[in-house]
Amino acid sequence: MADYELALCFETAFSVGVGNASLYHTATARVIPGATLRGALAATWWRRPDADQMAFVELFDDDLLVTAAYPPDAMLRTAATFVCKYMTKPECGQVVVDEAVWEAAECGTAPHECWVCDGPLRLESGWVSLPEAKRRGRVQLDTQETAQDGALFSREYIPVGNGAYVATIQTTKPVDWLEGATVRVGHGRSQDLGRATIRVTEMHEGQEDWPETDRPLALHLTSPAVITDEWGASSVDYRDLEAELRRVSLEEVKLRERQRWLRSELITGWHGQSALPKQPEWGLAAGSTFVVEGLSRAGWSRLRRGIGWRRAEGYGQVALSPLEPKAHPPERISFEDWRRLSAPLRKQQAIWDQLRRLLVETIGSFAKSDEVDETAVANAVERMKPMRAVGAGLLKPHVATILSLPKPDLEILSRHLSAPRGDDQRWA
Ligand SMILES: [Zn+2]
Repeated sequence: MADYELALCFETAFSVGVGNASLYHTATARVIPGATLRGALAATWWRRPDADQMAFVELFDDDLLVTAAYPPDAMLRTAATFVCKYMTKPECGQVVVDEAVWEAAECGTAPHECWVCDGPLRLESGWVSLPEAKRRGRVQLDTQETAQDGALFSREYIPVGNGAYVATIQTTKPVDWLEGATVRVGHGRSQDLGRATIRVTEMHEGQEDWPETDRPLALHLTSPAVITDEWGASSVDYRDLEAELRRVSLEEVKLRERQRWLRSELITGWHGQSALPKQPEWGLAAGSTFVVEGLSRAGWSRLRRGIGWRRAEGYGQVALSPLEPKAHPPERISFEDWRRLSAPLRKQQAIWDQLRRLLVETIGSFAKSDEVDETAVANAVERMKPMRAVGAGLLKPHVATILSLPKPDLEILSRHLSAPRGDDQRWA
């Protein structure tokens, strides 16, 4: 079995129905489902002069796996991913918290606030950075070739110029029939929509992503998965997902109970040959995520062909989430930091007690103002009575350094310095 990257270089716009057509408007999917791409590849395959039914069945029924296609810079946010709600500062964009990654990496509790602006976080699940769809209208003509009253049809499409869409295919058979071939994706052949040229690149073993660790791992679905319970009914329960992971990986993996990270969606589709709609069924949505214990490299390699039903159509694709959180809140002040910063002040035993109280007071007044700049710090230091004593002027830079700490650090300091009883008295 070899993995290939299949790039679709679109020469015309495309529109892929997502089963939500209303009477007059049809939206397009912005990620091309594996089933759609697979159907398009099958049509391309049949155009070969030596095409025969037997070879088709061998390749398409038993061998070829086709994943969804999307632009390389599109990103799938898992159902456990939170971002800054209000984005009040440009750096807020760096705040991306995947709770499943935090849990697997045993980093402690994931942050619940934006560490740039201190604002709340909001869930951001699903694909981001996908191309924008455009809308095209078309008038319905009646038998006299004149426009029918009120019958204006519109359809969404993805325009050209968004770069290639990329999918992964797995097969044991040669892929030379794909390289350079033209494929038609989605709706609108008569309008020459969805025409793309295929480029195929083999992906080598070195690109394998196993992290060599025996700690828990966060995994996520990159395409919807159709899982069933023990009676064969479709299920979105984590216990049935665990059973499926065990069945496919052949390992006694254990899933953490985090049902909220599993999203469901109604999966629709069409039978290629009969053009009849398939029975819709509930599945786990792309981006559903879970933390697994006890998975080895061998087990992971078995999961890479997907889980659940309709895998050949690209359903049930699993990916490893990052091993560590990509972004962290900055480290907060520790006791050791504080000892170092406050050492010169503590040496002045005669005034330390008074200075400590003044620090708490000043931090309290800073907390009430939005912006504390250098001037505000300098003024505050000048106002501190002990600073007027002979020799104490040398302490000014040290006091200023402490008061210039970020707000969350000052809050920690204030807490320790003002309420030493019962708390950590070492700080005071
Ligand atoms: Zn923010």
